[in-house]
Amino acid sequence: VFLSLEGLDGAGKTTQARLLARFLEGKGLRVLLTREPGSGLPQVRNLLLKEALSPEAEYLLFSADRAEHVRKVLLPALREGRWVVSDRYLDSSLAYQGFGRGLPLSWLLEVAQRATLGLKPRLTFLLDLPPEEALKRLPRPDRMEAAGLAFFQRVREGYLALSRAEPERFRVLDATKPPEALHREILRHLLPLLP
Ligand code: C5P
Ligand code: MG
Repeated sequence: VFLSLEGLDGAGKTTQARLLARFLEGKGLRVLLTREPGSGLPQVRNLLLKEALSPEAEYLLFSADRAEHVRKVLLPALREGRWVVSDRYLDSSLAYQGFGRGLPLSWLLEVAQRATLGLKPRLTFLLDLPPEEALKRLPRPDRMEAAGLAFFQRVREGYLALSRAEPERFRVLDATKPPEALHREILRHLLPLLP
């Protein structure tokens, strides 16, 4: 079962991904905890964080990383029957490079279809956070995070639009809540899927 966590930087995805993976392991399930970018092509992560790239180059690098992530990590784990928890996946690109940087969704989706082989999460937890709050939580913004409030506003709205388009996959959570409360909400949504 493939689960993804999405949301702005600072929303608490990494914390929730860890808590979720630990919970599933505690249930005796075999779990893979992974993240994007960098789990397909590790070198790509540095490039993406340090260089000022065109949105197109940025998206294609994320896609190259994702293509490898899908083929070498995600699909093998899912075939072994593992539960996979990914800290970011395709929705990050649709929200950041699409809604945030203005690339057309039609092109993003066309590339993504090949890059991901059509692999989609069973559930996506969107940790929704007002951009003001996200910026406040960032200790030391990296290049991408320095993009500022208007950019984050577009990314947040993009995520919400994606969630409205696929309500059966998305669960939208209020990320201003404390981590333990968010974790409990995630578990509540997960309950119907547990063996
Ligand atoms: O979530 P994480 O901190 O690993 O993301 C690394 C950086 O890449 C963040 O600054 C995030 O805003 C950015 N990012 C992006 N587009 C994506 C995924 C992440 O700009 N598709
Ligand atoms: Mg970050």
